[in-house]
Amino acid sequence: MRSIGVPNPNRMTLLVLRDANQPVKQIQVSKPLVVAVPLLALLSISGLIVSLHMQSEQTISRLEDRLRTQNLTIEAVVTDKNEAIQRLQNEVIALSGQSKEMMGRMKKVKQLEAELQKFIDKHGDPQQLGKLSTLSWNDSSGIGGEFIAVHDNEIEVLAQETKDDFVAISNLLDEIEKNVPLTLRKAKQTEYSLSGTPSEWPTLSTRLTSNFGYRTDPFTGRAAFHAGIDIAGKVGDPIYAAGAGKVITTARDGSHGKYIVVEHPGGLQSWYLHLHDIGVSEGDTIIKGQKIGSLGNTGRSTGPHLHFEIVKGGSPINPLPYLD
Ligand SMILES: [Zn+2]
Repeated sequence: MRSIGVPNPNRMTLLVLRDANQPVKQIQVSKPLVVAVPLLALLSISGLIVSLHMQSEQTISRLEDRLRTQNLTIEAVVTDKNEAIQRLQNEVIALSGQSKEMMGRMKKVKQLEAELQKFIDKHGDPQQLGKLSTLSWNDSSGIGGEFIAVHDNEIEVLAQETKDDFVAISNLLDEIEKNVPLTLRKAKQTEYSLSGTPSEWPTLSTRLTSNFGYRTDPFTGRAAFHAGIDIAGKVGDPIYAAGAGKVITTARDGSHGKYIVVEHPGGLQSWYLHLHDIGVSEGDTIIKGQKIGSLGNTGRSTGPHLHFEIVKGGSPINPLPYLD
């Protein structure tokens, strides 16, 4: 298509050349229209571009805003998480310290219990302890859980270690709970055995045939002072020490028969007369309830019995208030 100049200045003629066999076609158009159409097209395209550009800028701006908000949120969450981790770490460290302290205390308690046991083993009466031997006594010294050095940043290691410590503490507590009551019973038994107060009934029989004080003498029939109590029994019945102490006399004479004198820590003496057998020697240390001889009929006696006497400051006193 091309335009050809024509005399009319306000009009333009467009010649349309088609196929070679076809005639040339003339189209008359006004000049302003030729200018206006491309201009309008250009303007509308420009407007479209400007509009698209503005829209994209808005979209970018919105996206940027959203990203900023999201970033702030993420930062806040990360800060929270970091604080939570810090708190947890502090708690685990504190917990670990507590468990170590507890372990230390438990070990001390365990040591105390072991010392108590040693005391009983050293001072306890094998006969008396034998009575307790039916109770199972588990003197395990095993205390689990060696301490592993704590690495500053390995919080998981520390947590696991703390768990292990608590398991060990729990086991230790089980053991102590099981052992301490038995140890205490043994300790009480030991304490009783070591008690110097002559309070244990000195033989099997409890049949009193003569009391402390004035009585008619069985041999002379005259009034006489009886310095102890007479307990009837069978020859060979065991005679027990009424309290812990030291054997100061084992002897025999026509009046006392075979006899034993025990001196107790508090200053009292206990006398055991008319024995069949003497089972201890002078100088022996004995514990309460220990068998020291057997009941007999020796000396100035009318039948098998034990004459039991307690002497305080050189004078006989009524033994009955002392005896259980
Ligand atoms: Zn007597």
